[in-house]
Amino acid sequence: MILYLVVPCYNEEAVLPETSRRLAEKFQALEAAGKISPQSRVLFVDDGSKDKTWSLIDELHHRDHRFGGVKLSRNRGHQNALLAGLMTAKEHCDAAISMDADLQDDINAIDRMVDAFAEGYEVVYGVRSSRETDTFFKRTTAQGFYKFMKLMGVDIVYNHADFRLMSRRALEGLSQYEEVNLFLRGIVPLIGYPSTTVEYERGERFAGESKYPLKKMLAFAFDGITSFSVKPIRWVTGLGFLIFMASILALVYILVVKLLGFAVAGWSATTASIWMLGGLQLLSLGVIGEYVGKIYTEVKARPRYLIQAINLMPEEPERGEIQDAK
Ligand code: UDP
Ligand code: MG
Repeated sequence: MILYLVVPCYNEEAVLPETSRRLAEKFQALEAAGKISPQSRVLFVDDGSKDKTWSLIDELHHRDHRFGGVKLSRNRGHQNALLAGLMTAKEHCDAAISMDADLQDDINAIDRMVDAFAEGYEVVYGVRSSRETDTFFKRTTAQGFYKFMKLMGVDIVYNHADFRLMSRRALEGLSQYEEVNLFLRGIVPLIGYPSTTVEYERGERFAGESKYPLKKMLAFAFDGITSFSVKPIRWVTGLGFLIFMASILALVYILVVKLLGFAVAGWSATTASIWMLGGLQLLSLGVIGEYVGKIYTEVKARPRYLIQAINLMPEEPERGEIQDAK
């Protein structure tokens, strides 16, 4: 089977020589074991790097046909770089694995992913077994991220980043998701098809520094939530409803105070309108939000279904047609 390894790179000159060396070894071993065919490739995607990344990729490509490269016109971010690589790979491969350039994703898990593919799984998620190598900060923020996403109603695979194998058919499915705000971790589970997980130990970035500062991570999480969940809107609606209910209780209280003669002139009307209008406004915002949300999902034009198998006896061809064909 032809395997394509898609590796997004943004300013990765520090890691590329070592990464390519280890990947070449891995490919040789896989090929020798008869698990992948010689047409398999490592596809680096240069995400608009400002350092020597592209010239390194170019050099690798000319030295060893196993390495290929795609260069984006400018920095478009990890998710877009991944998509560019996967969509390029789709035209040539039976399955593609996406992984980071810094070798944090254990390349020995590739064997097990390929085995799972051979067993018939079309999506194999790499799931990290522990977070011991992470700094305390990265660990807490990352785990908080998964918990928060669940709470917000986004269905993602726990402790899975973007280290995964996808069959060509799954990639075809992915290509039908035309949304611009890409959050691959959320889309892939939506594609469906038989899937499984493979555990791996995540290492440390062995050179260079993280290209995912907190600011990018927060933007990423926010993108994930707003692209996949209507829960925030529902919460606004719920809050509006609660406040509106409370305003009815407040109204009773205001009337009692007024009837007992404790109210200053104008107090009752002002207080009552603050409560009622506040509640009504939030409620209406929520309702409008629901419609905006609907427009949003329509605009994304996601495929409504993907077919896994069809069992259908084709109609008997008519006699005349067969004769015509002869
Ligand atoms: N990356 C990219 N474009 C970007 C940022 C990152 O292609 O704008 C790549 C980067 O080269 C690496 C992968 O995404 O291969 C993951 O980035 P990094 O290892 O810096 O993130 P971390 O592991 O710290 O979360
Ligand atoms: Mg990394």
